[in-house]
Amino acid sequence: MKPTKLAVAGLALALLGLPESPAFAKLKVVTTLQDLASLADLVGGDRVETLALVKGYQDPHFVDAKPSFILKLSRADALIVAGLELEIGYLPPLLDQSRNAKIHPGSPGYLDASTGCEILNRPTQQVTRAFGDVHPYGNPHYWTDPENGRIIARSIAAKLAELDPSGREAYAANLAAFEGRLTEKEKEWAGKMAPYAATKIVTFHDSWPNFARRYGLIIAGHVEPKPGIPPSPTHTLEIINLIMTEKIRLILVEPYFDLKTPKFIAEKTGATVLSFYPSVGGLPEIKDYFALFDYDIDAFVSAMKGKP
Ligand SMILES: [Zn+2]
Repeated sequence: MKPTKLAVAGLALALLGLPESPAFAKLKVVTTLQDLASLADLVGGDRVETLALVKGYQDPHFVDAKPSFILKLSRADALIVAGLELEIGYLPPLLDQSRNAKIHPGSPGYLDASTGCEILNRPTQQVTRAFGDVHPYGNPHYWTDPENGRIIARSIAAKLAELDPSGREAYAANLAAFEGRLTEKEKEWAGKMAPYAATKIVTFHDSWPNFARRYGLIIAGHVEPKPGIPPSPTHTLEIINLIMTEKIRLILVEPYFDLKTPKFIAEKTGATVLSFYPSVGGLPEIKDYFALFDYDIDAFVSAMKGKP
């Protein structure tokens, strides 16, 4: 059978990597974090194509600026960042090199997801990065409170409607569906966490103040002496004493930190090291923003019940 002209044209387009018949061009949304991409997917539905630069199992403070990021940024219609200088170490030069004025800070295609969110530990004095503190403008891990996730989703819906006005109704409907599901899940998560209110924990990095506040946990200390500063022998000793004195049972560790010090502390104290995931994509099964809380909360409850 002879190939038809149409089939040949289709093949040519396929070889070029182009869609054969796009119903409409999707909005290309680049995010720094997978959490933001997940929220953009949930709100944008099939009108957007999202791409996250950083994987959920990578430390979001210390990201290798890959040249491939520049190409991704150069093609983006929108860029969503966590803000609060979480991306300061890699994003600004990439953004310059992308030469995409649409997504520069202040341009319509740029969205700082922290706007409107509850940000904890904002500095009360002059901002300083002295001693290497990587949280100079307040805690940048704020999406670990699902209520902040709701605020981020609303900001994304508004931004998408601004950039793609013909999708306004679709974005509003997707947002309503997201918020309805989130409200249901929040009841479930709060119910699971309720028995552990006022439980004291130690975490490796200061990633969890919003999560802890939402579920009434008390973060008694961190394995890092300051955010972004590796453990030191003196501080490790202090944490061991703290865990013994306060009878703390769990040390929560983000997936990108060396387990050597947490395991040493656990050996000395009898506490348990629990891998805890601050981002979508931290594990293959943490596929979206809902799965993030499903996974972490179930892991926490199991650890508190003493199950492996
Ligand atoms: Zn941090």
